[in-house]
Amino acid sequence: MKDIEYDPAEESTYECFACGTVVQASTPGACPDCGADMRNRRTPIE
Ligand SMILES: [Zn+2]
Repeated sequence: MKDIEYDPAEESTYECFACGTVVQASTPGACPDCGADMRNRRTPIE
């Protein structure tokens, strides 16, 4: 039985909190545009 798949080596979409820049990356880092934190778009926000 499969639960939520999570592969940290797989590239995910990250969106910048500050300016909304979207990048594909395998690890979350700073925004290439403004240096702010980025969040994983695949992470559900409830
Ligand atoms: Zn940014």
